[in-house]
Amino acid sequence: MEKAVIDELVTIFGQSNVLTDREDMIAYSYDAAPVEVEPEAVVFPTTTEQVSRLMKLAYRVEVPVTPRGQGSGLSGGSIPLKKGIVLCMDRMTKVIEFDPANRLISVEAGLTTSDIDPIAAEAGLFYPPDPGSVAFSTIGGNVAENAGGLRGLKYGVTKDYVKMLTVVLPQGDIVKLGSKCVKHVAGFNTELMFVGSEGLLGIITEVTLALLPIPKHRESALAIFNTLDDAAQTVSDIIAAGVTPSTMEFMDNATLNAIQNFKDCGLPRDAEAVLLIETDGEEHSAKAEMVIVQSQVEKNNSRDFKIAQSTEERDKLFAGRRVALNALASVRPNLILEDATVKRSVLPEMVRGIIAIAQKYNIQVGIFGHAGDGNLHPTFLIDQKDKEEMARCHKAVDELFQLAIDLDGTISGEHGIGLEKKPYLENQIGAAGIKILQDFKRMFDPKNLLNPGKMFDMPGESA
Ligand SMILES: Cc1cc2nc3c(=O)[nH]c(=O)nc-3n(C[C@H](O)[C@H](O)[C@H](O)COP(=O)(O)OP(=O)(O)OC[C@H]3O[C@@H](n4cnc5c(N)ncnc54)[C@H](O)[C@@H]3O)c2cc1C
Repeated sequence: MEKAVIDELVTIFGQSNVLTDREDMIAYSYDAAPVEVEPEAVVFPTTTEQVSRLMKLAYRVEVPVTPRGQGSGLSGGSIPLKKGIVLCMDRMTKVIEFDPANRLISVEAGLTTSDIDPIAAEAGLFYPPDPGSVAFSTIGGNVAENAGGLRGLKYGVTKDYVKMLTVVLPQGDIVKLGSKCVKHVAGFNTELMFVGSEGLLGIITEVTLALLPIPKHRESALAIFNTLDDAAQTVSDIIAAGVTPSTMEFMDNATLNAIQNFKDCGLPRDAEAVLLIETDGEEHSAKAEMVIVQSQVEKNNSRDFKIAQSTEERDKLFAGRRVALNALASVRPNLILEDATVKRSVLPEMVRGIIAIAQKYNIQVGIFGHAGDGNLHPTFLIDQKDKEEMARCHKAVDELFQLAIDLDGTISGEHGIGLEKKPYLENQIGAAGIKILQDFKRMFDPKNLLNPGKMFDMPGESA
């Protein structure tokens, strides 16, 4: 990058908020996906105006810019594929306004997701979306990926809570989108255009989120099964019985053992699968719902059903689920984690299909995920240095995505397309769907400088 451009970056951000040393670039060359590209500079804005000045500069000198929260994305979204500048949002962490009367909170986009709940709790409120990465992902990253989480089944995902956004458009204009009102139909829902936009259309600098009252009571239970099929069938049966648990997480035997080896969370090593189930609300209704859950679990031959008797017991169960990915990551040198998602009713077929694919290609797999919303995380455990194993794994991934599409599902429930799933997107949404995305991108970013090369290629762009 030309020295004159770096000098301008220093003028905008100050020396302490600009990095250009080679060793520093390495730290911003990857996220949680297995790809690495080093940027030429990293900048840390502290105001929306600085982001606007950066984009005006980038547009003038035609340098690519890749937004980044905490780099916890699982689809390669924050990797600076075409080099240029990484715009790291993790120093924009202010709480702008907490408005309990209207159950709203406005924050800067770099705030860590889990920093919201302690503030909201002061007024008996909480922020429902809770990705497994809640302790380190940023709110801006959550909005850009439309992150889901463990409570998605009952409470929905990030898009259900976004009320207003401040966005810097690729040419530097600052726009405020959405409204703080409960109802708002003045124009298109433009704020939602940026939810799940994966940093391709604009940089989110401020977010106003809706909050909900904290449920008065929670019942948490672990249902243990001898067969994967029984566990998968139980998920559909619980919903069919009229209960919407706040959490219904699935973990298979490989995941349970990986967790227990990583950290003792009291999970059974010999079960083929478990479901971690939580109901919440008024005490009597949460308990009554758990009785129905138990009846469905028992109908499906569960070998054991334990209701947590204390907060400590509950926390131990959830701690196991939260470390599942890290635990699986410690089994082999690398992993490929997917989030193909299907309707709940075909979950047993999906689980059977994943296992058949892993066996066909002789790849180790651990399956866990948000079973209540059909969002499984089949995780292939591999060694990237073993080219032959990698070739088998890529074929397994191809078949996995095709299986999800054949079952009327989707190639991504929450991790986004980024780089990882780019080759599969057209299969899902068709050529006409890709053209709509390209048209939107061109409208916002005519020079294709904001996070280029992600999600889809622009016409003429090399794949
Ligand atoms: C252990 C673990 C568990 C996880 N569990 C879940 C889960 O349960 N549910 C789930 O949905 N995801 C999960 N994830 C994935 C990841 O945490 C989410 O996608 C999260 O939203 C990414 O946030 P981030 O701040 O790290 O964003 P990054 O990874 O830095 O960026 C993600 C994308 O958003 C863009 N972006 C970031 N900030 C902005 C901004 N301010 N404006 C515009 N674009 C921006 C980037 O360009 C990139 O395309 C998990 C990841 C890990 C490692």
